[in-house]
Amino acid sequence: MPVITEDTIRDLAAFRADGVPVTTCYLDVDGRRLHRHQDVEHELDVLLRDVRGRANGTPSVHADLARIETYVRGGFDRSRTRGLAIFSCSDQDLWEVIPLPVPVRSRVIINNVPAVGQLESVVQEHVRFGVLLADRQRARMFVFELGELIDRSELLDELPRDYDTRGERERGDVAHHVDALAQQHLRRAADAAFRLFQEHGFEHLTVGAPDSTMADLEPLLHPYLRERLCDRISVAANASVDDIRKAALLVESAQERRAEAVAVQRLRDAIGSGHRGVAGLDKVLAVLNERRVDQLLVSDGYSASGWMCTPCGSLAAVGRLCKTCSGEMHEIDDIVVEAVDHAMAQSCKVEVCVDNADLDVLGRIGALLRF
Ligand SMILES: [Zn+2]
Repeated sequence: MPVITEDTIRDLAAFRADGVPVTTCYLDVDGRRLHRHQDVEHELDVLLRDVRGRANGTPSVHADLARIETYVRGGFDRSRTRGLAIFSCSDQDLWEVIPLPVPVRSRVIINNVPAVGQLESVVQEHVRFGVLLADRQRARMFVFELGELIDRSELLDELPRDYDTRGERERGDVAHHVDALAQQHLRRAADAAFRLFQEHGFEHLTVGAPDSTMADLEPLLHPYLRERLCDRISVAANASVDDIRKAALLVESAQERRAEAVAVQRLRDAIGSGHRGVAGLDKVLAVLNERRVDQLLVSDGYSASGWMCTPCGSLAAVGRLCKTCSGEMHEIDDIVVEAVDHAMAQSCKVEVCVDNADLDVLGRIGALLRF
């Protein structure tokens, strides 16, 4: 499965169709919910029925929808694909299918630009993640991306087993020796973790280890790894990859929720202190037009209609006269999609927040400003 990166998303966000609408289709194809291929086709039929009505009279969009339908009906490998993100603009030869190992919310969006918000959210939710499992003899290191295992390394340093049979004095020496071996084993484990980090550059590291092992292991980890440590998982060193993956995903989403909460708190502080922060659709669109945004925060699933200026591209919650150039504006089905796209095109950070009540109260969208 090809790896989607922020670069892929920014390239899509930068796509311009010269006034021809772009069709974005997110389709949930999760085999755990939709068992048969027919179920997937039905999911798509329901979506398309609704959209075809709205797309009336736009040949490029009808061609997009036909191509999407042909692609999905043609069948594709669902063994590892749980979601599809499809971007199409037939008139401008844009056709990109991005299979995702995680489910998405089924939705078709027709807009001036590719609707990359949900894709961005998926990528943020599933950063590269390292998992190190260790006990006194065994160490296993895994790297996950988008919930999929991409690399692993395992090592076993067996400790001598026979020291119970020795005499009292000798046993003391052996115990000391065993501790030294265990320490050496943990050093090797820390080295193995760092090697995979150098190779893959994961953002977070979670460790599954008994308390005593963790106490010995932590100081041995490279500082780059220590600063990436997040919640520990309680998974035995010999657990199955699937159990490890599940435990890691829980830590990962908790980590992401915390990062979102920190960003929203910064926004609240900025608004409270009266500078460098705004919230609510109207104000956020205004600062985007002025290119003042450092970070855009938006609630996952937020969508609202709005207006875009035909001559200058400015966005507004209310039309139809542009405040920037006094030009005529046209109505847009989903202005939030446009806002995310504008932010990405301006190289702003975009944080898609899931279930963050504080951001919802602020109007589901906010921006931290550069000036
Ligand atoms: Zn304008």
